[in-house]
Amino acid sequence: MAVAALGNYDRSNVFARILRGEIPCRKVHEDAHVMAFHDISPLAPVHVLVIPKGEYVSMADFLGHASDAEISGFWRGVAAVTAALNLAPGGFRLLSNAGYDAHQEVPHMHVHIFAGRELGPMLCQ
Ligand code: AMP
Repeated sequence: MAVAALGNYDRSNVFARILRGEIPCRKVHEDAHVMAFHDISPLAPVHVLVIPKGEYVSMADFLGHASDAEISGFWRGVAAVTAALNLAPGGFRLLSNAGYDAHQEVPHMHVHIFAGRELGPMLCQ
């Protein structure tokens, strides 16, 4: 279910718990700025989530408040994942749900990486 509103960062969210090692994940990549792991309910043969280590509720929060080092580190982390999984030849899609209209479910900023099949149109109607 989508979050009704994104207020202050909630340290009990599931991705915060993954970052603290309290619940397991299938990790793909980790560095100083990001962690990447397989989505628990994959919507494509490759469905990986990339999250920043900082406490940001959404992409809007992240882009508005993260430091330049965090922002560049995040996107370099995304690049590290696409390289590690060799996604460029077949292609891939990045998606970030931010807020209610986008049906964001987990209030810790994340980017989905989808790949491994023809992904169809950008949005369903
Ligand atoms: P979003 O709607 O963009 O907030 O998507 C949140 C994503 O997190 C969904 O695709 C879920 O399947 C995924 N998810 C939720 N809990 C976990 C978990 N414990 N490990 C991996 N992925 C998860």
